[in-house]
Amino acid sequence: MALDGVKEAIRVSKPYKMVSRDFKEEDTAVEFEGVTIGGGDLAVMAGPCAVESLEQCLETARAVKAAGAHFFRGGAYKPRTSPYSFQGLEEKGLEILNAVREETGLLIVTEAIDHESLALVEQVADIVQIGARNMQNFSLLKRAGRSPKPILLKRGMSATIEELLMAAEYITSEGNQRIILCERGVRTFADHSRNTLDLSAVPAVQAVSHLPIIVDPSHAAGRREQVLPLARAAVGVGADGLMVEVHCDPTSALSDGPQSLYPAQFEQLMCEVTKLAALVSKVSS
Ligand code: PEP
Ligand code: MN
Repeated sequence: MALDGVKEAIRVSKPYKMVSRDFKEEDTAVEFEGVTIGGGDLAVMAGPCAVESLEQCLETARAVKAAGAHFFRGGAYKPRTSPYSFQGLEEKGLEILNAVREETGLLIVTEAIDHESLALVEQVADIVQIGARNMQNFSLLKRAGRSPKPILLKRGMSATIEELLMAAEYITSEGNQRIILCERGVRTFADHSRNTLDLSAVPAVQAVSHLPIIVDPSHAAGRREQVLPLARAAVGVGADGLMVEVHCDPTSALSDGPQSLYPAQFEQLMCEVTKLAALVSKVSS
């Protein structure tokens, strides 16, 4: 049945609409200088959990760049579980990230934890990260939807795929279509790792959404010896990229030292995942 002025009607039965494949069949690719996320490249983001000092960041950034990373990650605002843990260098941390980009040319991904920090982070970051603990901070998601910068949305530690996609829908419904999802492990009864990396989330998301999805094996594992095997598996399952914590001196890290790779371990990881990525064809719709 045709209605005047209606060219096409798309039936969308899911609670998320614009992020679904019913709405847009082809994969979304978020483009940056030198790398595209969701376009077939394997985008790699690497760096410390937290920005601690200019020296720590520069030393780590030079190492991850030499190994082939595209983005430098590091939090200037840290959403810590304990109020007594290191909370981040805040604005000073953003200045350090700026200096890292200037010196290394690496793109910057860093987290915003509230409206106030988002306003500052979006001036510096190439990608604004919204962390697992804020995945359902709907007011922050709406604000991110009005940001000119792409958003990296991490899955909440007990969120379903549908909840993750509805969180992404909050962002896109405000106008921002440049969203990258991230699987970072969910909480289970397992005590051999910090979280349980839910690799089936990658094909599950790809089946129903056109958004790119990357994997963070570091926050899933919680211990560095599991990061390389999980990174290999993430590439095998078809992830569009990886986020990996790397620190120039993990034993002195102010946060997440036990899961941070030494630069040499990251170099090894890059060698392996680059080879694997060439063998894997991306699942599409
Ligand atoms: C992070 O990437 O620094 C972080 C805090 O991760 P998550 O939100 O996944 O815990
Ligand atoms: Mn961390």
